Amino acid sequence: MTATQPAGGERLAVDVRGVKRYYRTPSGDVHAVDGVDLQVSQGRALAIMGPSGGGKSTLIALIGALERATEGTVTVLETDLGRLDDERRAAWRRSNVGFVFQAYDLLPFLTALENVALQAGLARVGPQGCEESRALLRRLELDGHMDKLPDQLSGGQKQRVGIARSLVGKPRLVLADEPTGGLDTATSAAVVRALLDEVRRLGATAIVVTHDPRVAEQFDERIDLRDGRIIGDAVVRI
Ligand code: ADP
Ligand code: MG
Repeated sequence: MTATQPAGGERLAVDVRGVKRYYRTPSGDVHAVDGVDLQVSQGRALAIMGPSGGGKSTLIALIGALERATEGTVTVLETDLGRLDDERRAAWRRSNVGFVFQAYDLLPFLTALENVALQAGLARVGPQGCEESRALLRRLELDGHMDKLPDQLSGGQKQRVGIARSLVGKPRLVLADEPTGGLDTATSAAVVRALLDEVRRLGATAIVVTHDPRVAEQFDERIDLRDGRIIGDAVVRI
């Protein structure tokens, strides 16, 4: 079923139905995701929590078309990801999803602004072409830091650059896997608040993995994943 109109009439951004993801290993199959049903309406923000090994990264990778489901369907932004070949999945990802990584993954020899502008495909357009990247970095409180290299920035500032880079293409879905894993709690909360402000500004949907309750409380909803399943409700719709 690819219906994307939940009872409330809101459009679904993410529709995960009966999804399992197994990995074959020498010591047997690992059930990383073991039967997840999850619907997230467009514009909502969901935090995923749960113990290490619970399947959080695998679920994020399935929703972001980085992994394929072994069973079930993953429909994101009205596209059934299981029907796309690898090339189409990559193209779909590029035009729809912004990823934020824990390790920031900024290019060390480019400035903050260049890291963002490169993602926007604007680097060659010249200074005015970078205006959008500049505005985004300004809103993320990086005025005065745009021309610094990643090494000259704090962890929180680097992640704000990572956030700007993920958002500059105006994705409809933002996925982040422990984006504040390396930051203290106060910085984490501020960085994620900035991320969510920008996501709401875009009208995008956000799904963020976090261990930090102070981060998670900023989201519309939270789920706990353990042993590849959502704890509590069998089917979650937000
Ligand atoms: P989390 O992000 O919640 O820590 P993961 O999704 O990374 O959990 O992993 C869930 C389970 O799947 C773990 O037992 C992990 O070891 C296993 N797993 C994840 N990726 C692979 C893989 N590529 N090959 C084999 N096992 C994997
Ligand atoms: Mg993980």
